[in-house]
Amino acid sequence: MGRIYSFNSSEFISDPEILETIGSRGARVMELASLGAPIAPGFILSNELLGEIVEDPSIAFDLYKKPIARMEQTLEKGFNDKDNPLLVKVAESPTLNMVRTLSSIHNIGLGDHTVDGFASFVGEGFAYHEYGNLVQKIIELELLTDVKQERAKKLQKYRDALKSATNQKTVKKDTVKQALDSGRDLFPEEIYTNTHEQLMYVVKIFHALFQASTSSVDSSLVVQGMVFGNFGKNSGFGNFYTHDIIEGENVISGEYFEQAFDAREKEGVSLQEVSKKFYKELERIGKELEKYFKEIRSVRFTVENGKLWVIDQQPVPNKSTQAEIKTLLDLHKEKVVDDEYVVQAIKPGRLSEILHAALDESSVRKFKSAAGGIAGAVGAAIGRVYFSTDSLLKAHKRAIQENQPADFILAMPSTFAEDVKAIEVAKGVLSSEGGYASHAPVVARSLGKVALVYPNARFLKNSMKIGDTEVKEGDYITLNVPYYEKPTIYFGAARLSKPTPEGSGLLEFLDIVQGQIEDFDVHANADQPKDAELSRTFNASGIGLCRTEHMFFADDRINTFRSMIIADSSEERAEVLEKLEPMQMDDFYQLFKIMKGLPVTIRLLDAPLHEFLPHTQDSMKSFVDFFREGHPKISEKEIRLRCDLLEEFNPMLGHRGIRVAVSYPEIYNMQIRAIFQAAYKLKADEGIDVVPEIMIPLVMTANELKTIRNGKRIEGKAIVGVEEIEEGVRKEMKVKDALDYKIGTMIELPAAALQADRIARYADFFSFGTNDLTQTTNGLSRDDFNNFFSDYNEFDLLEENPFKVLGEQVKEMIAIAAERGRLTRPDLDLGLCGEHGAEPENIPFAKDSGLNYVSTSPYGIPIAKLAIAQMNIKRREEGGESNN
Ligand code: PEP
Ligand code: MG
Repeated sequence: MGRIYSFNSSEFISDPEILETIGSRGARVMELASLGAPIAPGFILSNELLGEIVEDPSIAFDLYKKPIARMEQTLEKGFNDKDNPLLVKVAESPTLNMVRTLSSIHNIGLGDHTVDGFASFVGEGFAYHEYGNLVQKIIELELLTDVKQERAKKLQKYRDALKSATNQKTVKKDTVKQALDSGRDLFPEEIYTNTHEQLMYVVKIFHALFQASTSSVDSSLVVQGMVFGNFGKNSGFGNFYTHDIIEGENVISGEYFEQAFDAREKEGVSLQEVSKKFYKELERIGKELEKYFKEIRSVRFTVENGKLWVIDQQPVPNKSTQAEIKTLLDLHKEKVVDDEYVVQAIKPGRLSEILHAALDESSVRKFKSAAGGIAGAVGAAIGRVYFSTDSLLKAHKRAIQENQPADFILAMPSTFAEDVKAIEVAKGVLSSEGGYASHAPVVARSLGKVALVYPNARFLKNSMKIGDTEVKEGDYITLNVPYYEKPTIYFGAARLSKPTPEGSGLLEFLDIVQGQIEDFDVHANADQPKDAELSRTFNASGIGLCRTEHMFFADDRINTFRSMIIADSSEERAEVLEKLEPMQMDDFYQLFKIMKGLPVTIRLLDAPLHEFLPHTQDSMKSFVDFFREGHPKISEKEIRLRCDLLEEFNPMLGHRGIRVAVSYPEIYNMQIRAIFQAAYKLKADEGIDVVPEIMIPLVMTANELKTIRNGKRIEGKAIVGVEEIEEGVRKEMKVKDALDYKIGTMIELPAAALQADRIARYADFFSFGTNDLTQTTNGLSRDDFNNFFSDYNEFDLLEENPFKVLGEQVKEMIAIAAERGRLTRPDLDLGLCGEHGAEPENIPFAKDSGLNYVSTSPYGIPIAKLAIAQMNIKRREEGGESNN
């Protein structure tokens, strides 16, 4: 025989085997009871029992006589009591978690015999509304069963009459009565006059529905006493979250609605206004729930006639990441959860919500929008749109002078070195060309700005068209680039929530994450002191990539750097380099100082040179004026001609990286000198030992690297080796002891990967430049690929963006290079510094191929760290190796 399971605040089922048979709602009620929450009493009819009752209804009353007596006693009401009736709700408790349109019926027990008694507590309007509604819901439930067409029609008509009678602002007793009378002949008279018969009728329909459905066939039914927040004085209804769901403060926060049945009825007041006694009890319940579920929960409660009842509790899907982390930290402090639990509870990409501003969805409901594009750098940004660096900088200056909001978005087909200063002051950048590994997104990520690549943006003169919307210079737009969902452009200024890394719990969270990281760790891609500092805040274990070309973007340097590029003799170039040397020395000094002896990998200049040349009339004019100050004899025409001569057909595969150093050795010479000067100076000033790591980009053959490392003399020309440069600096600075340093290379060409064994003879470390390696392995331009990626995606030819998720052949290149490199040099240090480093999906591969670290922009560090920690825990749990 099936079973009936009673529950109340002190009686519940905890046997897991039974819990499994009573469905999700039943289990939830038992959970609440077991946590000591004051829940209204009730009972569960197991599925088996339901069948038996339906077959022989006469057994029913005897079966639930006892639990009903307990309900009557606890709630101080009576089943079928005409003056103070006990009402119950019946709800499906599915074993499979299916959501049905009508899964519960409330207020069973309301009938001709009880409605006026009930009205004396809650008012006539409410009582009759609920009565009419109850019959209406019974009809709707029955309509879900296999009802004959003729009866269905009649039922629908009856339901409509009840609906219109109850759907009034002020519900009238007589109108509802009339509507009730209009269809009485459709049901046995007892369902209007006898609580038990009404209950049986509902039970039978539910049972028929379960039988007819594949998903609900073994559902149970929960029958529970109703309580009312509008039950006269000392009654009310409320809901609260167990932690604040935005800021994450450890307080219960919510609303209380006095003398109201639910939140729709009245304006609420702050939860604090509920009586002290109840507040304390709710706090206690909140704590218990959090301890049990290990997360924030939402709780509904009712106070009926001075008695507190918890109605339900649920998870909170829309809590902020900050709230989630702070709750975990509180639970961790209370020893409810351990380190591993905390680390595993947060999806890595969710951290971006703390690191960047997030969109307040409610502020854009009425905005026109355009979805799609490639997420270049996550976050949300609002600003007035400007279509060139010059115009944006001017507008920015004006805004500051006039004390106006200085929120700007740079919108251009693509950006170059000279646009970095605009990206720096802007909130975000919108481009149409390129993709994830292109200039605008890479720079935006390193500066913590938002970037969206929207291939369908059409740039016109001083405006752009996105779909059929034209955006003019100065118009506001909002970029929303979330981590896990599609990006969207909103045409207007939205509201954003500010990022709050400090005080958000992120740093304490990262400390716990760090405990799960062993020797495979995260370095930073950082070239500015503030990036280095931020990376230390996030526990970066070194700088894995300092792109030195980024150091020349600043306003006061770019023209000097340009003069160096267009110099037409070594002497002229050496003269400019002499000016740049102290600037570079200072740059490196600051980075070394911030990193306090941690590894700092400095990549020598790598950029197609023409990228640095002026691209607009204004910047050309500024450069011409600058250059002619030092070289009055050189005409503007000549300057322009020298710039033009640097244009290449295919600059990414052209004169860049080590190739520039072969043509102009004095450039690397200056940078290497600056590195050693900085290291020796820091040792002298602060006693900090730095082991500089000098990294040579775009190496294709072992001999190239050998030449830069050891030097080479040919007739009339020489490349000075690193050792000789170091000796020179040491002598100049009168330093006695030579410091240790490393020379390594980026592996970003298949040719380099395949001959890694030979290259390793001259390299102390490799760092995989997976942006270029993806470009060169696949023959895919990192800047043009997105023009056709969507077509490839549509035809299922490429599932993932290979500039984000490492492709199979690129992985093979890395694995080959790692293996061959270590054959020559077993202690070869290996890292990955392309944009792939911040993508959690690439982490297991990177570790498994023997890499020692990934390096990513500062804002990617927390995400990569969390991904590593989660991987380590998962592997330990699966019984595999952890780290090493
Ligand atoms: C790379 O190619 O992956 C890399 C890190 O270098 P860059 O992006 O500067 O070319
Ligand atoms: Mg590269």
